[in-house]
Formats: sequence, structure tokens, C-alpha cells
Amino acid sequence: MKNLPEINHCKPNPDAYWCPKCRAHNQFSIHSNYDSHHGSWYHSYTCRHCKTSMFILNDAIFVTRALFIVSFACFIGGVAFPDNGLIYALGGTGALCLFLAVGVWFNRPMKWSGFNSFQSGRSAQTLKEQALDHQCQPTYYECESFDAWAEQFISSAEIQSLKKKYGEEKKVRKTAKTESSTDSSKSKLFYLAILYAIGFTAVLFFIEKRRMISEWYDQWSHSD
Ligand SMILES: [Zn+2]
Repeated sequence: MKNLPEINHCKPNPDAYWCPKCRAHNQFSIHSNYDSHHGSWYHSYTCRHCKTSMFILNDAIFVTRALFIVSFACFIGGVAFPDNGLIYALGGTGALCLFLAVGVWFNRPMKWSGFNSFQSGRSAQTLKEQALDHQCQPTYYECESFDAWAEQFISSAEIQSLKKKYGEEKKVRKTAKTESSTDSSKSKLFYLAILYAIGFTAVLFFIEKRRMISEWYDQWSHSD
């Protein structure tokens, strides 16, 4: 086990995976699952120390904003098309998206915010000392997940020199693939949110109309 003072995992980085339990950019294990329905790979990142699911702040903010946008669009749609059933359906979807957005916000950006403001007030030297004293110490190991973790903080050339220093030199995996897949998964997530919102709206609209139809039927049968 070799500690890595070259990378400060306690210094806030909004583009790096962060563990809300350990309150650090800990090293992670990557779990990959193939989604045959959408024809793409889904990767999840868990903390190597406590196994908690990790997240990237900027991704969490993206998801929260996407949910707020869909929620806002639903409410605007409800006002623009004042049909009883549609107002009910869009209002329900808007409320659900708003609820999810607030839930994600409290679980992710809010937790990060406390860590970020606390750490930002500390000097570079204090942050360095804190990182070296932290209960979870990053270590060098030969695995793609090490490269993926280190690439968040340092360049490929710097990773190569780390490998020379701590272990066998090995070809560093290119970052471009990871970044582009992250971007495409972000837009895919946004489209999925819209798709699910439309589906949920349609279901609510149908339920609402069914109720109205049964009321009309009752009125009609009683008038006879
Ligand atoms: Zn952890």
C-alpha cells in the first residue's frame, strides 16, 4: 500500500466523484451494467472505503436543473392548455418532478455545499495536512479504476510519472472516451426524464378522463 500525497482528495473538485459519507474524493470501484433496452453501458461508482454510492456535483446539479425544467414546462403546459384532464395530468407530473428535484438537491448538492464551504475556508497547507491525516488514504494500485480516479485531478503525463514512481509503467487509458460517454449519458438522462414525464402525464390524463367518463355515464344512466 502506497499513499499518494500528489493528489489531495480533500480539496473540493465539482467534477470529481465524491463520497458523502467519507466527505472526500475517495477512490472508487466501477460497476458496469449493459442496458440492452437502450443499447448502452451504465456505470456506477462506489467508494472503495465505505461502499457508499458516489456522485459528481456538476452531474447532480445537471439532474436537478433538468427536473426543475421539466416540472416548470409541465406547469406552463397546464396553464397554456386549460383542459381539465390535462391540468390534472401535467400538474401531477410537474409536482412529481419538483418533488424529485428537491429530493436530489437535498441529497447531493446540499451535502456537497456544506463540505465545499467548510473546505474552501481552509488554507492549502491545512488542506494538505487534513488529506494526509484523513481516515481514507488514496493508494496506488494497478487497475483502470485507479487511472479513472487519478484522471479527475491530474494529467495523463502526471499519471505516467506516478506509475514510474509507485509501480510498473503502464499505458494510461485515454480520458476522451470516458468524458464523451459522460456527456452522452447526461443528455440521454435528460431525454429520458422528458420521456418519462410525457408517459406519466399520459397515464394521469387517461386516469382523469376515465373518471370523467364514468361520471358522465353515471349522470346519463341516472337521467334515464
Ligand atoms: Zn466513503
